[in-house]
Amino acid sequence: MSATIPTQFTGQAALKKQDPKNFDLHETKYTPRAFTEDDVIIKIDACGVCGTDLHVMTCGWGEHDQFPAITGHEIVGRVVRAGKNTTHAVGDRVGVGAQGASCGECVNCKNHEEPYCIKGFVGTYQGPTGDAVQPYTQGGYADYYQGPGHFAVRIPDGLDSAVAAPLLCAGVTVYAPLAYYGAKAGKKVGIVGIGGLGHLGVQFAKALGADVYAISHSDRKRGDAATLGATGFINTHDGADKVLAEHAASFDIILSTSDQDDMPLNELYLPLLKARGQFISVGLPNDGLPKMGWALLGKTVTGSLVGSPKELEDMFRLALEKNIRPWIETRPMSEATQTVNDMYAGKAKFRYVLVN
Ligand SMILES: [Zn+2]
Ligand SMILES: [Zn+2]
Repeated sequence: MSATIPTQFTGQAALKKQDPKNFDLHETKYTPRAFTEDDVIIKIDACGVCGTDLHVMTCGWGEHDQFPAITGHEIVGRVVRAGKNTTHAVGDRVGVGAQGASCGECVNCKNHEEPYCIKGFVGTYQGPTGDAVQPYTQGGYADYYQGPGHFAVRIPDGLDSAVAAPLLCAGVTVYAPLAYYGAKAGKKVGIVGIGGLGHLGVQFAKALGADVYAISHSDRKRGDAATLGATGFINTHDGADKVLAEHAASFDIILSTSDQDDMPLNELYLPLLKARGQFISVGLPNDGLPKMGWALLGKTVTGSLVGSPKELEDMFRLALEKNIRPWIETRPMSEATQTVNDMYAGKAKFRYVLVN
């Protein structure tokens, strides 16, 4: 089998720091680091386009020189080579999300909290490998992906590869904190931002049994939110006074997928929470969260980073059982450049998936 795997993988790469007004990716080959018995090689069927991909290609979160950069961390495909130390076999359909590796030995890794590995989160792309041939990892806008089998999870048969892909980052990013912080029947949950993450947040919160409100800055997504299963809709443009008159101190959980710099945390989100309620941010504004004042008392503000392999498995089970499906548009892998430009322009409704 391994004889049919090319010695070089081919991806759609950013060759240098990208201008966000004009992404320009090029087909590029690279040689993967030496295969180990902990690894799998996946022949990629589909890879979702995540906002993080764009941030990395434009150096939006800080300058770096790791180019060529092949991004993409919502990878689904078939195992074509499986190391002896993995639980996978050739032919298995698996997915890899945003985390490609971790130390595997620290207290957090041992407790199924790999995203919070003390030695550091190793990204599926741009992560250090310690290897001279391939010093940093490359992602899923490509024909093949190689990485530790521990971070490749089985995809249930009932889910198409392109449909499963966005669940690997966007899906688990919202599922993991909702499940952990107890979204369930009898709880009122607000999802801030109805986009790639938020449209899945509404579906997962509903699937977990909660009463879900979509919280958006205009009425544009009102219809979509209802279709996704939200029972209520809050337009923050109405102003805090009007919103709080109806909803103050009524939410158990508010999950924010927004990274807007002027988020109304003290003015609106914290006052919307009941005492002991939780505000969870999965999108972080460039300047961090606003300074908190009195509104914080009796509330918890926390952040959450993707999800562990175990949470991915739990999420896929729930997605299959409750028929949770990302809204996607598929594009050929060869159209990665146009797709990334459209993503940056905000045209995704709600996720693009590149397919081979
Ligand atoms: Zn992502
Ligand atoms: Zn660790």
